[in-house]
Amino acid sequence: MLLTISTTHRPATDLGFLLHKHPDRVQVFDQSFGTATVFYPEAGEERCTAALLLEVDPVRLARRAGQGGKGGKGAKGSPDFSLAQYVNDRSYAASSLFGVALADVFSTARGGRCAARPELAETAIPLELVIPALPCRGGVPIARRLFEPLGWTVGAEPVPLDPDFPEWGDSRYLRLTLTGTVRLADALSQLHVLLPVLDESKHYWQGPDEVDKLLRSGAGWLAEHPDRELVVRRYLGRRGHLTRAALARLAELDDVVEDAVAEAVEPDAAEETRVPLNLRRHEAVLAALAEVRPRSVIDLGCGPGQLLARLLATEGIARVAGCDVSVRSLQSAARRLHVDRMTERQQERLTLFQSALTYDDPRLAGYDAAVLMEVVEHVDPPRLEALERVVLGSARPGTVVVTTPNREHNVRYEGLTGMRHPDHRFEWDRAEFRAWAERVAAAYGYTVELRGVGDDDPEVGPPTQMAILTRADTTTTEEAGR
Ligand code: SAH
Repeated sequence: MLLTISTTHRPATDLGFLLHKHPDRVQVFDQSFGTATVFYPEAGEERCTAALLLEVDPVRLARRAGQGGKGGKGAKGSPDFSLAQYVNDRSYAASSLFGVALADVFSTARGGRCAARPELAETAIPLELVIPALPCRGGVPIARRLFEPLGWTVGAEPVPLDPDFPEWGDSRYLRLTLTGTVRLADALSQLHVLLPVLDESKHYWQGPDEVDKLLRSGAGWLAEHPDRELVVRRYLGRRGHLTRAALARLAELDDVVEDAVAEAVEPDAAEETRVPLNLRRHEAVLAALAEVRPRSVIDLGCGPGQLLARLLATEGIARVAGCDVSVRSLQSAARRLHVDRMTERQQERLTLFQSALTYDDPRLAGYDAAVLMEVVEHVDPPRLEALERVVLGSARPGTVVVTTPNREHNVRYEGLTGMRHPDHRFEWDRAEFRAWAERVAAAYGYTVELRGVGDDDPEVGPPTQMAILTRADTTTTEEAGR
C-alpha cells in the first residue's frame, strides 16, 4: 500500500522538516508485520512529495497474530493454520496496518512537533494526499462523507478489477486524492483514524486504552465531525461498550453530539439522565449565574463558545466576553456565533479575545461575573497560582463560577484508563477541589459554595464539581436595589 504526501508550500522541501525525514534519503522502518519505506519521488522548491510504502509480510503477520494478546483463533500454542492467513490482500491494501505504520513512522509529525519549523507545524499548508488503492466499504460516497467535513476536496475513483476487462466491473478499491489546506499533523491523524474506518477492519487487538487513543488522534476534529458516530463505531469494531464510552467523552468536547449520546446511555435511563453532561454543566453554570443576575459575564477559557451562545441568549446579560489561549478555539467560537453575520449592535455586546489566564491582562477586568468551566485542569499545577492571582487578584469579578471533573467519578466511565481528556494536567477528587476552592477563596477575599453537576453517585459523587466564589465585599443585586 502506498501513500504520497505533496505540498506546494514554499520552500516545499520544508516537508522534510515537518515529517522528520530527509528528502535525500530512502529510509526503511521495520514493523512487526512488514517493512515501511519513506522516500521522496520529488523534492523541489515549488513542490515536494514524500511517499510511504508499506510492504506487509503475510508470514510475519500471521505469526504475530499467533503470538499476541488476541485470544481466540490463532492464539498462542494453537496449531491453527489457515491459508487465508497467508494468501490475502493484506500485502496490497492493509488499511489498518497502514494506519499503524503511518502513526509509527511519522509519530513526531503527527504530534505536531517540529523543532526546526515550529510555526509551520502549527500552520495549515496546501497538501495533496494520494492513495492509489484504498479498500473502502461504502465506496465513493463514504469517502466523501468522511473527508469533506474536514476541509478536504475529495477525488475518489473506483479502481476497475482489471483495466483490460471493463466488463468485470470495479474492485472494492478507490484511488483517493485529498486536496486541501490543512495542518500536516491533523492530516496524518485523520488518515490514522479514517483509513481503518473506511476499510472497516482493524487488524490488531483493541485494549481498554483504545478509546483514549482514538480521542487523542481525534483531538480538534472528531468531536465536531458530523459522522463521528459512524467513525467511532467502525473504528472500535462495533464494540458497543467502547463506542458508548467514546461518544460520551466526545460529548464532553462538543455539544453537537447530543443525539448520538442520548442513544449511548442506557436505553431505560430516566429522561433526565439522558441529557449529556456538558449540557447539564451549561445549565448548572447558567443557574448559578441567574442567582446573582450579572449584567456582564466573561467566559474564561471559552473553547469553541457553546456557553457564550447560551449567555448571549440570556436576558439581562448586556455584555458577554470570551477569551481563550487557543486561536483555533476562538475561530470556532466566532463561526459558531456567526459573528460575521451579527448586526453592529449584536457585535457590541460580544467581545472575543486571546489571552493566557496566567498573565495579567486588563481586558479581563470589568465584568460582574466570570466562568472558569473545565479550564483549571488544563493548567500546569505550577502555573495555577498565576491563574488564581490573575482572575481573583487582578480581574476580581463579583462572582466566579468554577467547574472541574470529579476524579472519583472516573471509575464509572467504561474503558477510561487515564484522565478524561488527553490535555488534562490533573483531575481532583472532591476533597482536593474543596481544599483548593477554600484556600483561594480565603486568600483573595471570597466566600465559597460547592455544588455537584450531573447525577450524584452515592459512592463516587457527581461527574462534575462546581464552586461558586463570591467576592466578600459584593452587595447582592437586590441589595443594590436593581
Ligand atoms: N470552557 C469550555 C472549554 C473547556 S476546554 C467548555 O467548558 O466547553 C479548556 C479550554 O481552556 C481550552 O479551550 C483551552 O484552550 C483553554 N485554556 C487552557 N489553558 C488556558 C490558559 N492558560 N489561558 C486561557 N485559556 C486556556
